[in-house]
Amino acid sequence: FVRNGNPAHPLDLRTERTAIDRHGRRFPVELAAATLHHDGTTSLHTFMHDITDRHLSRAQADEHAADVAAISEATATLARTAAPEEARGAIVRAAQAIAGAAFAALFEPDADGAGLRASSAVGAEVSSAVLPFDGPPSGAVRTYTGQAPIFSGDLERDARVTRRFVRPRMRSAYWVPVKRGETVRGVIVVGWNEPLQEISDRVARMMGLVAAEAAVAIERATLLDRLARMARTDDLTGLPNRRAWDQEIVREIARAKRRGAPLTVAMVDLDHFKAYNDARGHLAGDRLLKEAAGAWQTVLRETDMIARYGGEEFAIALPACDDQEAMVLIDRLRGVTPGGESCSAGIATWNGTEEPEDLLGRADRALYEAKRDGRNRTVLA
Ligand code: GH3
Ligand code: MG
Ligand code: MG
Repeated sequence: FVRNGNPAHPLDLRTERTAIDRHGRRFPVELAAATLHHDGTTSLHTFMHDITDRHLSRAQADEHAADVAAISEATATLARTAAPEEARGAIVRAAQAIAGAAFAALFEPDADGAGLRASSAVGAEVSSAVLPFDGPPSGAVRTYTGQAPIFSGDLERDARVTRRFVRPRMRSAYWVPVKRGETVRGVIVVGWNEPLQEISDRVARMMGLVAAEAAVAIERATLLDRLARMARTDDLTGLPNRRAWDQEIVREIARAKRRGAPLTVAMVDLDHFKAYNDARGHLAGDRLLKEAAGAWQTVLRETDMIARYGGEEFAIALPACDDQEAMVLIDRLRGVTPGGESCSAGIATWNGTEEPEDLLGRADRALYEAKRDGRNRTVLA
């Protein structure tokens, strides 16, 4: 799927087809394929979406053929792009253009389900604060929970919205829910800097169409977010995996260089883990790995990074930590290893010039020494 063997020319495909479900019902679907470049590998992702909603909205908007053409153009990017941020940007730009608005934003539920957060905006800066579901009234939350569009022709006199949630110059606004079937996935808001008598049928219809397109795009973006996160996470422990470590350590070194601060890394390896597995079984071994990862994390600071580097080997980056501080910290960390088990560690402090591989290589050799000297100890490179 990499054309001419050149990853700079990725496959980029989008087509509409008719699918048949197991009850023989026919429904329209969109097939899209996108390539994702990650870490020197290229993967192909294909998506099939039920686009019944989009077709319904399209049929309703049929009489406005010219508008539909404008929308197709504006939203074509949505189907093509594999980058979630780009897709969200295209949604709000399309909404702003179609509504002739000064401002447009997309709100989506935040990760812990407490409220809505702007995931993209155009025309004005938007606060990253959460609009709580149970807080003072907001147009976005009302639209989200009510599952129906809201129009406010004069925001200053509208009790349904709280003034401080509104852009300072914005006088009127229109909110539409982004729905996938019966589920609301987000809210698109467009705002104007002058009061409006009413929202035209045309704008209302077009916004419905943008919302239908957005629903598909958001679903795909969410899926891609999840894929990207999975690719960087170790299943068993939930820690960053080696792939993530390799990327992060480069950033850590760049940060240390910029700040002129020390950076120390540690390689930590469970002692006689093979014997532990042999004695109690592989599942118990898995459990120990998971518990060790959890226990060790409690000793580390927010800015430290611990990754599962290999089977029972963990890599730790300690920014702003010199070798002596790291010795103390890693000894404390070894002390909380669960199950009465022990581990060994090798420590190396970045010398100011070396490459990540060399830094890690020194920590690894120190770890080897710790093993050779009898285990259950920390050795400084
Ligand atoms: P040392 O003290 O020298 O580190 O000895 P060791 O037995 O810990 O090291 P060795 O490299 O000989 O064995 C590592 C063992 O770790 C062997 C392998 O089966 C086990 N292991 C690696 N990954 C996993 C895993 O995901 N789950 C479990 N249960 N065991 C694992
Ligand atoms: Mg081991
Ligand atoms: Mg090992």
